[in-house]
Amino acid sequence: METVLSGIRPTGNLHLGNYFGAVKSFLKMQYEYNCYFFIADWHSLTTHPHPENIRKSVKTILSEYLACGLDPEKATIYTQSDVPEVLELYLYLNMNAYLGELERVTTFKDKVRLQPNNVNAGLLTYPSLMAADILVHRALKVPVGKDQEQNMEMARKYARRFNTIYGVEFFPEPASFHFSEKAVKVPGLDGSGKMGKSEGNAIYLRDDEQTIKKKVMKAVTDSGPTVPNSEKPEVIQNLFTMMEIVSSKETYDYFNEKYNSCEIRYGDMKKQLAADINAFCAPVRERITEFESDNAYLDKVAKEGAEKSRANAFKTINEVREIIGFKPYAK
Ligand code: AMP
Repeated sequence: METVLSGIRPTGNLHLGNYFGAVKSFLKMQYEYNCYFFIADWHSLTTHPHPENIRKSVKTILSEYLACGLDPEKATIYTQSDVPEVLELYLYLNMNAYLGELERVTTFKDKVRLQPNNVNAGLLTYPSLMAADILVHRALKVPVGKDQEQNMEMARKYARRFNTIYGVEFFPEPASFHFSEKAVKVPGLDGSGKMGKSEGNAIYLRDDEQTIKKKVMKAVTDSGPTVPNSEKPEVIQNLFTMMEIVSSKETYDYFNEKYNSCEIRYGDMKKQLAADINAFCAPVRERITEFESDNAYLDKVAKEGAEKSRANAFKTINEVREIIGFKPYAK
């Protein structure tokens, strides 16, 4: 079974965009591949988060992913900082990484622009850490968005370079994994296109019924079509796209029909949409609360994930040490 690895940003709560755009694919993948999912807490240090926030967000993220259905019996779920082998590989990879190529990475250049007062070496060597995350498990596939393509190219370069320097065929070149032909884009309901945390328009999986209703009822609409079968303006299309994602086909067809015959009442449509979003979120919300209050279970998942991940990473590091000329660790 091919190994797939995906990092999870330990910031923010999961929203519908995350769920339908990424998490849902993870749920399927865990049965089809040898999956490693890790909470990227070392990566988050580039912005110097408060220790209490790190502790809290790792727990929150783990609870939310488990509540969505990530299965620790199927996938290896771990926290990056529980696997120190990653850091050893990060060091080795950094020794073969060059300033010029690191400075040319677009995500680095963006950070330099966004946080000019905190251009730390961690930001510069972010591609080395990402490559170490991947190569330590010799993963073949990594689910990433377009923005990570260049970092993936760097990971392949690190793998090739290591193999060339030492005359080995040790690291496979990891490929970007695209979930499906057509990526699901969950729209925002405020007319701004995409749903996202930074867009301030996110509906979170943990939002309660009232909050969901308030967010949906605020959705931007227009005065309604006057000509039958007219094309939908973007804000209206967004409502329909959301309905297509969370509601039944009958519900979608009903409102689509009403739109096409110029009889649509957006208030009714939004009420229905809010009810359907809530019907989707309610069981997830309940499970999030259950997991968050079960520290013993969360600790067990984290511990077992770390053990599985470390066992695999240890094998890689020991071989790397031998290849480089160091003694392998005593067992
Ligand atoms: P973010 O929370 O912005 O770091 O997003 C994490 C991942 O969730 C992204 O790489 C996408 O795969 C997915 N995602 C986030 N927002 C959306 C959205 N509005 N539509 C589809 N996928 C999304």
